[in-house]
Amino acid sequence: MDQETHENLSGSGATTSRRSLLKYGLVGLAGLGAAAAAVRYAFRRVESIVTAAVFKGDAPKEKLWELWKRRGWVKEARHYLKLGRNIQCKLCPNECVMEPEDRSRCRNKVYKEGKLYTMTYGNPCSFHVDPIEKKPLFHFLPTSGVFSIATSGCGFRCLNCQNWDISQRKPEETNDPRGEPLVRDTRRLHSLGRGDLDRMSMFPENVVKLAKYFDCPSIAYTYSEPTVWYEYMIDTARLARKQGIKSVWVTCGFIQEEPLVELCKVLDAANVDLKGFDDAIYEKLNSGKLEPILNTLKTLKREGVWFEVTNLIVPTYTDKPEMIRRMCDWLVENLGPAYPLHFSRFHPAHKLTHLPPTPIDTLVEARSIARKCGLHYVYIGNARGIAEAETTKCPKCKKVVIERDIYSVSTMNVEDGKCKNCGTPIAGVWSADK
Ligand code: SF4
Ligand SMILES: [Zn+2]
Repeated sequence: MDQETHENLSGSGATTSRRSLLKYGLVGLAGLGAAAAAVRYAFRRVESIVTAAVFKGDAPKEKLWELWKRRGWVKEARHYLKLGRNIQCKLCPNECVMEPEDRSRCRNKVYKEGKLYTMTYGNPCSFHVDPIEKKPLFHFLPTSGVFSIATSGCGFRCLNCQNWDISQRKPEETNDPRGEPLVRDTRRLHSLGRGDLDRMSMFPENVVKLAKYFDCPSIAYTYSEPTVWYEYMIDTARLARKQGIKSVWVTCGFIQEEPLVELCKVLDAANVDLKGFDDAIYEKLNSGKLEPILNTLKTLKREGVWFEVTNLIVPTYTDKPEMIRRMCDWLVENLGPAYPLHFSRFHPAHKLTHLPPTPIDTLVEARSIARKCGLHYVYIGNARGIAEAETTKCPKCKKVVIERDIYSVSTMNVEDGKCKNCGTPIAGVWSADK
């Protein structure tokens, strides 16, 4: 966890003790007799109880909460457990344990009125039409636009976050439930000001309608961490699929298996940040863990969802050639050579403004390591002046099949998903009909 959270969090216990279990009502639950199994479960989950810090007593109070509900911006969470008088979220591996009136670590879930609620339903704080290449997804409907939405909140605390102004914010800091309700759809689209944006709603049906209006074959859940606004994402993706629009999850990959499998049923593509290949660095740089991300990658493959991996190379943290080699070996061994890997150049941001941008040589060396490990499609992003940084070559005949330049495609030699020169399939999703 980073310094920022220490200021705001009162913590949910630094040690495992009977006292900390009492605090969460678990011993009391045992006293009721009927819950021996739940107590066994609780002891098994002790590790998460001591690691996931939440914002104590920080749920919105009466008037604000009522306004939020009136807007339709709250929804009961889909994945949580009751633990006596407390609850435990089962959406991401943080497994927040909350007492009544607490707010989750990701800031957008609150435990009120006996239920866990998300506060980010139908209230995106940001939306754009982006080129799909920006996600980055290079092997998924190239040259298409993607309707992209975000809400506030994230379960990570990345020191280098580029979107910290929404990822490390509460919904109340990005949205305003006062005033007349305002639903964003294709009417009045271009006549709204900043204040209007803060109070607007965009429910799943509005998102799908807007994607169609902008001629986007897909919707991206992106910018902040969409896993933590899962309920909004999955309802939108479900509706989008019914109407022939695809869904793209741009994620840190920190999610539990069960909600992920449920999500995969309506997901068409993902870009997963693999932020490093060392648990200690994941902890220090992102306040995360490596293993759940690897599990996410394996699950996406098993469930048949197309994905690409992004690895941001942060000087002094994730720039060691030996670690990059281990990561690439793991990717080839566990996923095969066909899922693209995007090395991304770090630029000073958030709490790492003292570090320089990633040296170009480091990026080029990483690409060379990845290719030697056997990966077929390796790219370098966020950097200018590197030869063939965004070029796709056929793994068989080695001819250039796609050339790109900062989100735009200049050469396209993939036809029906195959190399035009030799007919070898190029991995990816090349048609919106599939
Ligand atoms: S999704 Fe949010 S509330 Fe749930 S476990 Fe993760 S950080 Fe906690
Ligand atoms: Zn070829």
